[in-house]
Amino acid sequence: MGKTIRIAELSKKEVDKILRTKKFNRLAPVSCNACGYKGFFKRRIFKIDGDYDVGDDEGQNVVRYHMKQQYNLEYIHFKIHRNINYVDVAFCSKCNSNKVAFDIKLNDEIFDELAKHLNVPEDKIKSDMQDILKRVS
Ligand SMILES: [Zn+2]
Repeated sequence: MGKTIRIAELSKKEVDKILRTKKFNRLAPVSCNACGYKGFFKRRIFKIDGDYDVGDDEGQNVVRYHMKQQYNLEYIHFKIHRNINYVDVAFCSKCNSNKVAFDIKLNDEIFDELAKHLNVPEDKIKSDMQDILKRVS
């Protein structure tokens, strides 16, 4: 028996709901690689189900293949949320390309996790980060 994979697109309502979840939307679209637009990005999100482990290259390649065949989407981002695998795709509001760069949004939750991870007070991390940002910008 061959392995199966199921890809199901979330409805508009389900997309709105999951995007309100901070954890899911931590890695979010920031800029269009085709035209440079930075602003609002439309999203399409797909739930991945089946026998493949989407945590490894083989599983991801199978998903990439089907996303290309079924939806003609190449620039996809893998996410796990509440033990469910998802693919997140963003579309530029200006040129409609889905060649969109994602980045991690820094928020208090991330500082909190960093603080725990590095065993350093959260305030210290925030002030260090601000110093770094000042230097690089
Ligand atoms: Zn664009």
